[in-house]
Amino acid sequence: MKLKFLLLPLAALAAAAPRAEAKIRVVATVPDLVDIVGRVGGDRVAVQGLARGTEDIHQIQMRPSFVTRLNRADAVVYLGMGSEHSFLPGLLEVARNPKMSADWTRTCAGSGCIDASTGVRVLQKPDTLSRAEGEIHPLGNPHYNMGADNGPVIARSVADGLKRVDPAHAKDYDANLKVYLLELDAKLSEWKKKAAPLKGVKAVSYHKDTAYLGRFTGIDFVDTVELKPGIAPTPTHLEKLVQKMKKEKVSLIVREQEYESKTSEWLARETGARIAVIGTMAGAFPETETFAGAIEHNLDALLTAAKIGKDVE
Ligand SMILES: [Zn+2]
Repeated sequence: MKLKFLLLPLAALAAAAPRAEAKIRVVATVPDLVDIVGRVGGDRVAVQGLARGTEDIHQIQMRPSFVTRLNRADAVVYLGMGSEHSFLPGLLEVARNPKMSADWTRTCAGSGCIDASTGVRVLQKPDTLSRAEGEIHPLGNPHYNMGADNGPVIARSVADGLKRVDPAHAKDYDANLKVYLLELDAKLSEWKKKAAPLKGVKAVSYHKDTAYLGRFTGIDFVDTVELKPGIAPTPTHLEKLVQKMKKEKVSLIVREQEYESKTSEWLARETGARIAVIGTMAGAFPETETFAGAIEHNLDALLTAAKIGKDVE
């Protein structure tokens, strides 16, 4: 009798072996997407990342392993909206994968391309192609992964993409998506409550990446330390910024961890505003490797800085 029980797990293992072989290989450009692809793909997908969460999405260091990963991939999942323009189309040109080729407008073209921004309501979309907002946000604000309420939108885009690439397992992706969406829904109500004290708080950020964060938290972002996205501050801009911050009673400076700290510290001294250091991607800080973990970390950092500001008054 005992032998029978021992044989059962072995038989199960043998049956599982071909399933494991059939996993689709997915490359996700940033840690947020690695997490979400992992959740939606489950055991049908083997996912590898490219950029590190501590990096600046507009200036990712290319590494030779990126080419190998893209060459072997069945699909690539990316933020889109030009986020990956500093590295992904260039890599796709050399990776020579027939399922995905470089597209300098849409990042990627081919059956293996999964644009996670599909379905995102784009903020700060320019009316013209004048590049007045700098060179790096040509299609609107691409930092939608910093908005908590975009989690479900990204998850749905990823699920649609995986179903298209691997239709045989569409039911698995739908089931995983359902579980993940339930989890996110619960967290979103929790985050919304938690963010309530931030409503109406006036802030400046270093880079113009807080549109979606502002929409969710109610923080009123009035300006940026950078002159324009990707363009360093000038002394004239900083002088004007100090005047504006004083006039509008800006109490919060949001510095993304990948940007230098000295200018924000100087601004804090000049204006009395408090600094919150946040991440623009998952993995920017230890223990924030997931989309939800990164959102929570940023919320906590903002609440801490905003609360200290109130205590001082
Ligand atoms: Zn940006």
